[in-house]
Amino acid sequence: MYNVRMQQIVAAYNLKDLMTIHWLSAPPKECDICATPIKDKFYDGRTQHGSWANMCHVCWQHENGRLGIGLAQRYQKQSDGKWRNV
Ligand SMILES: [Zn+2]
Repeated sequence: MYNVRMQQIVAAYNLKDLMTIHWLSAPPKECDICATPIKDKFYDGRTQHGSWANMCHVCWQHENGRLGIGLAQRYQKQSDGKWRNV
């Protein structure tokens, strides 16, 4: 029982790590707030109201302006097409 629980925790932790390094879902097409098309960079971050949004640089600065766990992650499109946390 203990080992199964530990495996679940490790698996969840690794998945979180993966999400932190690369954005695994389909990237957002536009900013959730101002609808500016997302080209090569977006922010997955908490807004002033406490909800989360995919934001352009301008909206991220307005809503939050900080990077970190519980604040926002920045993703940049790479030459291989993957979106990497930068
Ligand atoms: Zn925006």
